[in-house]
Amino acid sequence: MTTKAMDLTTYQPKKDLLKNKIIAVTGAGAGIGRAIAKAYAKHGATVILIGRTVEKLESIYDEIEAAGYPQPAIFPLDLETAIEADYQQLVDAIEENFGQVDGLLHNAALLGERTSIASQTVKSWQKLMAVNVTAPFILTKKLLPLLHKSPQASIIFTGSSVGLKGRAYWGAYAVSKAANENLMQTLADELEETSAIRANSINPGATRTQMRADAFPAEDPSVVKSTDSLIPLYLYLMGGDSLEINGQQFNG
Ligand code: NDP
Repeated sequence: MTTKAMDLTTYQPKKDLLKNKIIAVTGAGAGIGRAIAKAYAKHGATVILIGRTVEKLESIYDEIEAAGYPQPAIFPLDLETAIEADYQQLVDAIEENFGQVDGLLHNAALLGERTSIASQTVKSWQKLMAVNVTAPFILTKKLLPLLHKSPQASIIFTGSSVGLKGRAYWGAYAVSKAANENLMQTLADELEETSAIRANSINPGATRTQMRADAFPAEDPSVVKSTDSLIPLYLYLMGGDSLEINGQQFNG
């Protein structure tokens, strides 16, 4: 694995970088997922907005439509409770409507309890693993046939600094983010040379969202970078300028 701190301040994505691409984004209703879904649409993609809260998905849908970007699609899915058949239904609907998938951003996650391993409840551990680890696994597995239909597909996993090196009291969240890195590496290694699909991960770093505020309630949000500052990196890894990049970890 290569860790890259990207200086993308000079990266100038083409306006139509993602034209005609079908890109699925989980957790598209809030925070980083919302900003990136809109940025993908702005650069020409038809974005499949996946998330738990329908009102939030409808609100970003309306924003994308009002901006005149390609009409997105909404697929509500609670990643905590979804069973295999729910994922299959989602994949069948995507296949019927779009035929293929060119990009998949695994962004949705739970922060969970900030506590010691000794105090972590089994219930909260299992809930967090369902959303943060099992969901990206099942969604990837189920979407692979549609990703294979794309001439150049990109899968992005979302990591965290505590997933690169465990830290006290970050419990299941840290473990789940380490699992995402490994899932990305394992998948990237399997897909290398055998397909046109690449897989990489992004650790967004401290970013002004509800999750960050929950994790650091005493922090002044104005000192934390905005979700929009991450857009160049997420565009780079999703678009055709990163075709040679596979199995790598990036910091936002
Ligand atoms: P937010 O909490 O702001 O957004 C999380 C998103 O995940 C929301 O859209 C939420 O939906 C969705 N989600 C949560 N649970 C479920 C579920 N059961 N089913 C479907 N969707 C669900 O987080 P951020 O935007 O900050 O985080 C985005 C990603 O970046 C995460 O993977 C996070 O771990 C990672 N990250 C963030 C950092 C930061 O500083 N913000 C730093 C490092 C990593 P809903 O709104 O409906 O609840």
